[in-house]
Amino acid sequence: MSGGSVSDLFLRAARHATRFRDGISEAPQRPQVSYLASLEAFREPVPEGGSSGPEVIEELAGKAEPGLHAMTGPRFFGWVIGGSHPVGVAADWLTSAWGQNAGNHHAAPAAAAAEAVAGDWLLNLLDLPRESSVGLVTGATLANFVCLAAARGDVLRKAGWDVEAQGLFGAPPITVLIGDDAHTTVFSALQFLGLGQDRVFRLKTDDMGRIAPSKFAEAAGKVSGPCIVILQAGQINTGAFDDFAALIPVARRIGAWIHVDGAFGLWARTCPEKKALADGADKADSWATDGHKWLQTPYDCGYAIVGDEEAHRRAMTIAASYLPPSHEGERDPSHFVPELSRRARGFATWAMIKHLGREGIAAMIERHCRIAHAMAERLSAENGITVLNEVMLNQFLVRFGAGASEDEADRLTQRTIERVQADGLCFAGGATWRGRKVMRVSVISWLTDDRAAETATDAIIAAWRAVRSAAAASDLANG
Ligand SMILES: *Cc1c(COP(=O)(O)O)cnc(C)c1O
Repeated sequence: MSGGSVSDLFLRAARHATRFRDGISEAPQRPQVSYLASLEAFREPVPEGGSSGPEVIEELAGKAEPGLHAMTGPRFFGWVIGGSHPVGVAADWLTSAWGQNAGNHHAAPAAAAAEAVAGDWLLNLLDLPRESSVGLVTGATLANFVCLAAARGDVLRKAGWDVEAQGLFGAPPITVLIGDDAHTTVFSALQFLGLGQDRVFRLKTDDMGRIAPSKFAEAAGKVSGPCIVILQAGQINTGAFDDFAALIPVARRIGAWIHVDGAFGLWARTCPEKKALADGADKADSWATDGHKWLQTPYDCGYAIVGDEEAHRRAMTIAASYLPPSHEGERDPSHFVPELSRRARGFATWAMIKHLGREGIAAMIERHCRIAHAMAERLSAENGITVLNEVMLNQFLVRFGAGASEDEADRLTQRTIERVQADGLCFAGGATWRGRKVMRVSVISWLTDDRAAETATDAIIAAWRAVRSAAAASDLANG
């Protein structure tokens, strides 16, 4: 190979990665430079001549590092982002190095086999019907898409329409019932499937974002014809769960396909202390969840789980004359996902489950929930800070400026978020909840322990005190 041996190249990459990860616990929880500065660093005319491998890797690391966010650090609480565990990363490096195209089990037996076993393990861990089929996709967005494609095909098939062959033109209309606080990507999936973001029935939710069972029963009573019901395990802001035990029997009575978006929340089912939150979720027809959230696999990894394997296959199967057919007991990954050529995600999933084990996963989830609860308790004890939700899982919402007007509290909350982010001791982002500005905190990194949480809580309280003093001083100055 010109320009450096393979081992030199791989070792260089490993050295950069090791240095980055070794420093992650002490690194500021923010990028050092902005997007525009990063763009400036990368931007140049198309290279006319090539560069040696080592040069490319050195230059890449040099240009990228200032703009990297320490998302894998212990005090990162933004969005819902798993910690990209080193065991998963190492498995993922092998995945790249092995270069398997995981579409087909004849072409890539080990990739297809690891995926099949990882899928069985997932069904067991999440305690979902064992005969379900599992597609490994990029994340819960695509998992929702795959599951809802199976749903669309099945409810129309029961109405005498073959959507896989005929498309949606002239098909019987499908009623979609969905909670008002469903994740935005579920609406994207509906958009991709021709079901429309806006022609769904959005059901009223309670103050935690759960579908109100009375509203659901009322809406279900009006449905005739094909219907898809979309429920949620783990609301993105509050961590709340729809009441599966109450809602699913009602949805069954109207013959609906029942889908659960459980990107992170479905993992409560792996944890004895938290399992009751998702009681009855196994009675649904399909489930979307993520590997790159609570299982800590590297990006990207999600799972589309469908109870009726045939419905799953019908929606996704890719057949071509040059692709060998599969036989009984052989599983082709491409029958369960939209892609043909694809990454062998089964290796990293297999590695993470093998590393943590059932007990390790449960202990981690229990720890995250306990830490979230403790952080919320300490924050609410501070003057002017309000935690808006009951902390039942690993998510909570914080508002700053209790006692001030709502508009002033919006400003104080925004300033506190900015201050926390600028300080860089921890990272938490903002959101709007019930029309008002909030800080949202997700505890979901394998590295987050009690000490990290304490440092982060101190940092949030310090930022709030500084914002409050500055506001009081400017009030004085303005008379
Ligand atoms: C994160 C999330 C999604 C989207 O998942 P991606 O992995 O980002 O594609 C969907 N639903 C919920 C509830 C989520 O938390």
